Amino acid sequence: MPGSDGAPRCPLCGGAMRLVQTDSAGGRETWHCNRCLHEETRRALWHLTVWRRQPGGTGHERYRDADFRTRAALCAWMQRHVRAAQVTWFERERRCSAVVGPGGVTP
Ligand SMILES: [Zn+2]
Repeated sequence: MPGSDGAPRCPLCGGAMRLVQTDSAGGRETWHCNRCLHEETRRALWHLTVWRRQPGGTGHERYRDADFRTRAALCAWMQRHVRAAQVTWFERERRCSAVVGPGGVTP
């Protein structure tokens, strides 16, 4: 499914990669490049880490961790529950980091 959500491009040659194995227990996927035979594993799920600014301080504390089956599901959850977020995506690692203010996450 080249071009679909989560189908990666080969970091070496830019070719479309194909999913060859899913380790559901470990939450890992193995992707294979047909052009240059590069292979890599990546997270099967999208991981969100929410950080909260410490009141009055400059540091951040880890506030919430969650896994989602798709990037879209993660986006939808954030739109519903996270306010004033400063969001950073790590596409290749299927990871998203959000910083919220003192209000944190709404139920
Ligand atoms: Zn390749």
